[in-house]
Amino acid sequence: MATNTLDDPEADDYSETESALETALRQLSAAATQVDVDEGVIERLKHPTRVVEVGVPLKRDDGSVEVYTGYRAQHDDVRGPYKGGLRFHPDVTAEECVGLSMWMTWKCAVMDLPFGGAKGGVVVNPKDLSTEEKERLTRRFAEEIRDTIGPKQDIPAPDMGTDAQTMAWFMDAYSMQEGETTPGVVTGKPPVIGGSKGREQAPGRSVAIIAREALRYYEKDIGEATVAVQGFGSVGANAARLLDDWGADVVAVSDVNGAAYDTTGLDTHAVPSHEEEPEAVMSYDAPNTLTNEEVLELDVDVVIPAAVGNVITADNADDVQADIVVEGANGPTTSAADKILEERGIPVIPDILANAGGVTVSYFEWLQDINRRQWSLERVHEELESMMLSAWDNVRTEVEARDASWRDAAYVVALERVGEAKSSRGLWP
Ligand code: GLU
Repeated sequence: MATNTLDDPEADDYSETESALETALRQLSAAATQVDVDEGVIERLKHPTRVVEVGVPLKRDDGSVEVYTGYRAQHDDVRGPYKGGLRFHPDVTAEECVGLSMWMTWKCAVMDLPFGGAKGGVVVNPKDLSTEEKERLTRRFAEEIRDTIGPKQDIPAPDMGTDAQTMAWFMDAYSMQEGETTPGVVTGKPPVIGGSKGREQAPGRSVAIIAREALRYYEKDIGEATVAVQGFGSVGANAARLLDDWGADVVAVSDVNGAAYDTTGLDTHAVPSHEEEPEAVMSYDAPNTLTNEEVLELDVDVVIPAAVGNVITADNADDVQADIVVEGANGPTTSAADKILEERGIPVIPDILANAGGVTVSYFEWLQDINRRQWSLERVHEELESMMLSAWDNVRTEVEARDASWRDAAYVVALERVGEAKSSRGLWP
């Protein structure tokens, strides 16, 4: 998987469309030059522990049978059980899952959570399935990967195309086969069956907290800040609404159909989120509209790509006019774009820090499941805030000490923690 180009962070022959794995490997190689971590450890971290591929047969509502492909990639578990989401998306590939699983390893390490990294998914467009079909697909997928996962082994969670209901079906299927209710096998469940209050809003909440800290760091008053958000799903909508509540002017939000744009600030609570009404951002009565892509080129204080990966590329990085990019989606910026933005002096606050609130509240949920005791929403918010601030501080310290980019600094924090754990455990046998 690792080629010479991927190993060389300075190589210029980036492909136009970079896979998540290529981006992740390039980022790892770039960060590896900044840390004092054994070369053998870095080499081990370039490879996942395992990638499980399964066939998932589904009886469609019309009686026909289709077989979908599912994956679970487990990158590293030196600091604790594998952890990461499951996506239902037509573009899921084994390679993408590996790249995303690496980011989960770093994300958990940046947050100092006792987890490693994993990611999985099924190659399917969930929009093509009825609710009943989605339930059957989820249950059969849970069964096919049952040996690979477990509350002490590997704990899935929601990601693109999956949600709390998917996790409820998944947990039920696993529990029925194991013969005992096992809430800790997944996180992101509905609170009534062991989910955590505040989990659904957590990734967006952390994006908002980090955007607020970034504004403070660059000496911009949040009350005078302008923000544009690409994607109005769980991450984008929650981030936009919180920043709006905290006084920022959210001037544009978008979905696949385009963006609502108001230079005086939108009423973000009145724009339907994807969960409230899918793909209905354009139903909001805004004075102006833009394309989904134009949102990334607005002259705002903060732009938040919170939809899908690979949206800021070599093709449009020169057109980004924002003062700060805060990554809400996983992997929205390719390595080539990262380099261009760095040269242009536009800081990019990376996904592995900014959207890490999701997995952090997943950790709280896992603790609540072990203890069979639910936390209040206030406690979730307080502990999330304090963990985000301490991760922000750790990363900021490296930015200042090394004059590094925010991404390299976050990688340094993560790699040092993972590297130390690997060195102290040693290589078996
Ligand atoms: N899918 C989310 C992410 O990319 C959350 C993973 C989790 O909670 O385990 O961070």
